[in-house]
Amino acid sequence: MISRRDFHRTLAAGALAGMTGSLFSSSPELRADDSEKNIAKPSVPYIDMHTHIGQYVSSEKNLPASGLIKWMDENYIEKAVVLPLVSPESTLFLQPPELVLAAANEFPDRLIPFCCYDPRHAKHVGNAALINHLKRYKELGAKGFGEHKVGLDFNDPLMMKVYAACEEVGLPVLFHLDTIRGKDKPGLPHLEEAIATFPDLTFIGHGPGWWASISGDVETLGGYPTGDVAPGGAIDRLMEKYPNIYGDLSAGSGNNAIARDMEFGREFLIRRQDRICFGSDYLAPGQVVPQFETLQNMDLPLDVQEKIFRGNTIKVLDLS
Ligand SMILES: [Zn+2]
Repeated sequence: MISRRDFHRTLAAGALAGMTGSLFSSSPELRADDSEKNIAKPSVPYIDMHTHIGQYVSSEKNLPASGLIKWMDENYIEKAVVLPLVSPESTLFLQPPELVLAAANEFPDRLIPFCCYDPRHAKHVGNAALINHLKRYKELGAKGFGEHKVGLDFNDPLMMKVYAACEEVGLPVLFHLDTIRGKDKPGLPHLEEAIATFPDLTFIGHGPGWWASISGDVETLGGYPTGDVAPGGAIDRLMEKYPNIYGDLSAGSGNNAIARDMEFGREFLIRRQDRICFGSDYLAPGQVVPQFETLQNMDLPLDVQEKIFRGNTIKVLDLS
């Protein structure tokens, strides 16, 4: 064991013997001092598929990149995807990709930047220019596209134009789906049209509408349904049929989906162990992230934990 101070010093020095060396190995070790952590020690360090920096809905709550790193250190999170938000429906305080790329430059061993682009801008931009724009972000380090949280139907022609560009450039799309952003209907036909139209594009699902669709009896895509999950949900159906759809467990919606019916949730995670990525949606200091406890209580097989906690994200984002 090393002390917390040594842990930070090790990270700062870039001599990441324990952490980086462990990043792509099958059984990475955790070296930090357990006594200073907020949560139970997981079997492997997490890679968080879904975080934000800056301001979100409250001008009082600002999360600088250094604050995100501190929280990661306290919660066994080795790396985190940081998602910009550029659409007016997504947040009160927009977070441009440039902010995220700068943060990742500051903490290159810890933060994984994404880029995004509001499809309504694409109305005025040709396909080639859009592709070049996304290529530039990729060259600057972006590993994916999102958080794609846009006040249009999921299969709106402008949305489809952006998916086509992401497929061409090779940027997985992490999307938010509910009744306001990435709009769809129970059964997720709009999402299915996009997944089927762009088979070489990886989609990563998030948000109330996506996660309510774990259940076959979903009536609205806007809430946080409680109680037992009915089999036959759209998520299982789509994952069975298409290899290019994943889910991130972030936010209240992700936690609720697996915690509302722990028995179904556990079986779902085992059944879809190659498609689900740990995520928090951490975006403000002091935010409670219930996923840690839920996942610990699930007591999943160790190989399933490795995939969900980190392995699937390494695979999907090609982090090796
Ligand atoms: Zn988010």
